[in-house]
Amino acid sequence: MAVDNALSSPLGPPACERDAKALQFLEEMTRNADSVQEDVLAKILTQNADVEYLKRFNLDGATDRETFKSKIPMITYEDLQPEIQRIANGDRSSILSAHPISEFLTSSGTSAGERKLMPTIKQELDRRQLLYSLLMPVMNLYVPGLDKGKGLYFLFVKSETRTPGGLLARPVLTSYYRSDHFKTRPYDPYNVYTSPNEAILCADSFQSMYTQMLCGLLEREQVLRVGAVFASGLLRAIRFLQLHWRELSDDIESGMLNKKITDPTVKDCTLKILKPNPKLAEFVRMECGKENWEGIITRIWPNTKYLDVIVTGAMAQYIPTLDYYSGCLPKACTMYASSECYFGLNLNPMCKPSEVCYTIMPNMAYFEFLPHEPAGISQDSTPKLVDLADVELGKEYELVITTYAGLYRYRVGDILRVTGFHNSAPQFHFVRRKNVLLSIDSDKTDESELQKAVENASQLLREFNTSVVEYTSYADTKTIPGHYVIYWELLVKDSANSPGDEVLNQCCLAMEESLNSVYRQGRVADNSIGPLEIRVVKNGTFEELMDYAISRGASINQYKVPRCVNFTPIMELLDSRVVSKHFSPAVPHWTPERRR
Ligand code: AMP
Repeated sequence: MAVDNALSSPLGPPACERDAKALQFLEEMTRNADSVQEDVLAKILTQNADVEYLKRFNLDGATDRETFKSKIPMITYEDLQPEIQRIANGDRSSILSAHPISEFLTSSGTSAGERKLMPTIKQELDRRQLLYSLLMPVMNLYVPGLDKGKGLYFLFVKSETRTPGGLLARPVLTSYYRSDHFKTRPYDPYNVYTSPNEAILCADSFQSMYTQMLCGLLEREQVLRVGAVFASGLLRAIRFLQLHWRELSDDIESGMLNKKITDPTVKDCTLKILKPNPKLAEFVRMECGKENWEGIITRIWPNTKYLDVIVTGAMAQYIPTLDYYSGCLPKACTMYASSECYFGLNLNPMCKPSEVCYTIMPNMAYFEFLPHEPAGISQDSTPKLVDLADVELGKEYELVITTYAGLYRYRVGDILRVTGFHNSAPQFHFVRRKNVLLSIDSDKTDESELQKAVENASQLLREFNTSVVEYTSYADTKTIPGHYVIYWELLVKDSANSPGDEVLNQCCLAMEESLNSVYRQGRVADNSIGPLEIRVVKNGTFEELMDYAISRGASINQYKVPRCVNFTPIMELLDSRVVSKHFSPAVPHWTPERRR
């Protein structure tokens, strides 16, 4: 389609008229980042002028930045717990937002072991949708012809619960996939999926994955991009293919669907696509039956131009494995978002993973930035938050947001570094999430959670007069799914009565039981995390670790045992001292219901 010249974009020639409009919007927002931000804050404060929370700080209807900054404190989730609890318990008064809270989004960040509950309002769905609508117009600038085929995306819904007051609580993506915005989205030739909605919306993760994979195989030649939200999810799909290609090929050969697919809507829609195709079945058997799975993605889906998965932040650990399975296809990280708010997108999605930067869209929320000092440099006691348009190139900041749904100066916990600007909107490299020690999928385990888990598990060693003298950990992503490895150095006081294999296996399970609910859900429902492993190391290993650190310049006085390691020489040292390995013998407890 010819595109009107007046609609052309500085980012490049748009693929179609609709893209041109989207890119123009992007230009407008980023050119006027500061005034858009001023406007957003005024809108949020006007809309919510009478809410209990803002009244508490005597904002008195002011909507300007200066008054807002002088009166409203910066907060964390914990500060907001009482308000969140009241809403969860059914208080419908305007506590945080003038608009009714439509549901809670359950973040993968946890508080006291449970997912954080993020209040949201209906109109936020439109804002999320708006950000989604910008992704393909940007991608089309870099990859032509995406309207000539389909995307094989592994997308899943997760379980939902209700709070005591009756509000739904579910992950943001589940909320989005179940919304009409997604289910009844208009046909867009640039955004056609091989997975039927029914398969994506099936809550049974096996049936959902099975049918999504089957449909992807049936349309293998049409597939132009393969994706999942996070890299870990795409690898789980590859693992699924490794485990189930025989059954899948049987279905393709016979045109009959596996008996394990019992969900009637999933069955119906899959049977419409599934026809006997012995040639394709033979092909899948031949490719998957080979010992070697290197390049399997491009072997099965030969027209794939890129992988659409997030490989920034904690997901960077999966890049080598993705490269192995895809023959180093480009990996596009398209957006940066959270349960609290969708933040922005990558304007150069085909760049190298190490160069990914996200442009925060000034219309999504009001953004402030807390200067982040490297460890060791003392933080100013009253740090000054910086506005979106005022951040400085090269500096690191913690993201602080004020949203339409009623979070005011809320610390997200992400550390970002400014790498450039698009017009006047800054672009950020995602540095890391604060306080995350271990992460395999969407789980985030911090130091105190790990400490508590070790303490709880070591109770089992008491009757053997044994204690854990030192420990460290490591997220092992060489296995699919990945799993936590915890190195333990033990002090066994009575070697005639030392803890045996079975006890140490139980210690693994005890650790898992005390980890947070996102971890346990990954183990039980999503199958995205493998059994936790304890590796017992020889006595004196942690002293050697200290010697090694000191030989590399660490100070003896200030040396602390790292509670997580990923530096190869240190891992090699630890692994060379392992005397026994133990795995969790069962899955820990998990139900969708919250423990509190
Ligand atoms: P959740 O609240 O569970 O949706 O998790 C949101 C968090 O996931 C963000 O605050 C980030 O820490 C992380 N995240 C989301 N998108 C990205 C991305 N593109 N790159 C790195 N980390 C991300």
